[in-house]
Amino acid sequence: MADTTGAMKLKGRVSIITGGNSGIGRATSLLFAKEGSRVVIAGRNASRGKEVVDAIKKGHGEAMFVKTDVSRSSDVRRLVDAAMEQFGKIDVLFNNAAISPVGTVLETSEEEWSEVIQKNLTGTFLCTKYVLPHMIKRKRGAIINTGSINSLMAMKREAAYDASKGGVLMLTRAVAMDFAEFNIRVNCICPGAIDTPMLRDILSQTPDPAAAEASLVKMHALGRLGLPDEVAQMALFLASDDSSFITGAAMPVDGGMLGGWA
Ligand code: NAP
Repeated sequence: MADTTGAMKLKGRVSIITGGNSGIGRATSLLFAKEGSRVVIAGRNASRGKEVVDAIKKGHGEAMFVKTDVSRSSDVRRLVDAAMEQFGKIDVLFNNAAISPVGTVLETSEEEWSEVIQKNLTGTFLCTKYVLPHMIKRKRGAIINTGSINSLMAMKREAAYDASKGGVLMLTRAVAMDFAEFNIRVNCICPGAIDTPMLRDILSQTPDPAAAEASLVKMHALGRLGLPDEVAQMALFLASDDSSFITGAAMPVDGGMLGGWA
């Protein structure tokens, strides 16, 4: 049942957050810790991971960083083992790590294609595969995947990313159907353009970054980019009991982008 007392929404929970050391994942790590969750942050860059862990500890939360490349099975198994060893359970998995290269099919090499699918889609598969047995045992769990607006509509010159994020949404639905009987909910967040290092990197690859940003802003009815914390709030909702009857869903956080022509 939803908690209406104003108490912390994730008190006593344990959450793994991939890509928790930057952008949306960083904001989610800080928010989950504030809401009482112990947080296991996974990513490749240890110094950024340490910065987030230190910030959480400064606020009297509990967190650890595990250096992980989500596209490697051995790294993911080590991540899950470390979380279990340290905290004894996993309540929430936020599959959020991804890369976002630019290019049409013709501009994308076979190596680049494999890298995107491996990191964005196989990474989500691997983390889900190795966390699920621990959730099944306790007959509870919430898995949240970061898809994208690109899970639902294609963007020009983002062929591999579009394909990977479409796959993330269908994997979300597949896992939701297969494991609902174990009280495990699986949902996909579909953000519009969010002001993070990833977005800044994409904009910097355009001939005129300011013009590219302005035209991106125009696609959102609310007339601005989203903030990482606005996506983190959706992750919190999907991780908490407030969303107890929601599974297999694609939840837009897109400033009205999907609503129509802005
Ligand atoms: P970001 O700041 O660049 O964060 C991406 C994170 O993914 C980083 O923490 C990075 O950490 C991690 N990562 C990348 N490859 C990894 C790997 N192989 N193994 C482990 N970690 C890896 O970008 P963001 O915008 O917050 O992106 C977060 C999610 O939101 C992504 O799934 C992205 O596709 C999605 N999204 C973003 C937007 C947007 O406009 N920003 C829109 C829609 C969807 P390390 O470098 O340390 O590994």
